[in-house]
Amino acid sequence: MEWKFFDTGRPLEYSSMTGRIRAKALEMGFLDCAVVPAGALEKERTCLNRWMDEGMHGTMEYMARNMDKRLDPRLLVEGARTLVIVLHNYYSPEQSADPEAPIISRYARGKDYHQVIKNKLHELLRFIQTEITPCHGRAFTDSAPILERAWARRAGLGWIGKNSMLIHPRYGSYFFIGELIIDAEIPPEPMTEIPDRCGTCTRCIEACPTRAIISPRIVDARRCISYQTIELRGDQDPALTPLFRNRLFGCDICQEVCPWNRKATPHHEPAFHPLPGLLQLTRTDWDTMSEEQFNDMFRESPLMRTGYQGIRRTLRNLKS
Ligand code: SF4
Ligand code: SF4
Repeated sequence: MEWKFFDTGRPLEYSSMTGRIRAKALEMGFLDCAVVPAGALEKERTCLNRWMDEGMHGTMEYMARNMDKRLDPRLLVEGARTLVIVLHNYYSPEQSADPEAPIISRYARGKDYHQVIKNKLHELLRFIQTEITPCHGRAFTDSAPILERAWARRAGLGWIGKNSMLIHPRYGSYFFIGELIIDAEIPPEPMTEIPDRCGTCTRCIEACPTRAIISPRIVDARRCISYQTIELRGDQDPALTPLFRNRLFGCDICQEVCPWNRKATPHHEPAFHPLPGLLQLTRTDWDTMSEEQFNDMFRESPLMRTGYQGIRRTLRNLKS
């Protein structure tokens, strides 16, 4: 294989196993990749427990299940020794033609990312199995009880910003995180966890319309527009709906104001381009869309998570 130079801001040692995996991942179009030994996330246990005890997960009861697996991937995949963490860009600067059109979060404008990322992870796994070391493994992205941001931070891919997102010093935070959990031991490169670089900045905290970031790195999901518009089943909080700022599915405000996202560059993944016609929809088009039209347009989209009725619910509240 001909190695190319990829500038992730971290040195790439092509002769090591980890270096070859990282180089392959970058060649496949991932923004960055790191390898980290599997183990328990002890530091995160206390924070997670406190967050759950305060009820900040709202109705996301699945968060309370599999807590041990969430904190230790060795309980999720038998014989797990190594995590290969990847980041995949989804940033696009394109906006709706109608400035009054309800806003869909950037990550959700194209096809559903789960299968796209998993397919690429399976290709990376095949490379590891054939070129690096025999192993078994499983691929995940936002689909299993894994604290992905915590693992990416531990792997040296960034720090957790005050908005609770993983921030990569070269790329900001508009990316999906995915991981392979494999049963082979792969010596990691010397890892340096990146220290917090938020400094005295508090832009995300100040910009959050619903005051969901109650303190640095602690988001009360119940107040977060992403939770209210996607995860919540049932009625949205009437005290919060007037603060939704026209966000129909998800919210990017605390990322949009983050100075590190000035570094974001557009992705090159065709599956993540906005669905045909999406950015041309006007406010009226959304209001008059039938269920059949919705299902036609969004059948491969993350919007199917709430489905037509979930979108109608938010649309009604955006009007009030
Ligand atoms: S996603 Fe929106 S509502 Fe949630 S914390 Fe960020 S700015 Fe606040
Ligand atoms: S906006 Fe400022 S405080 Fe918030 S995550 Fe970005 S750098 Fe950190």
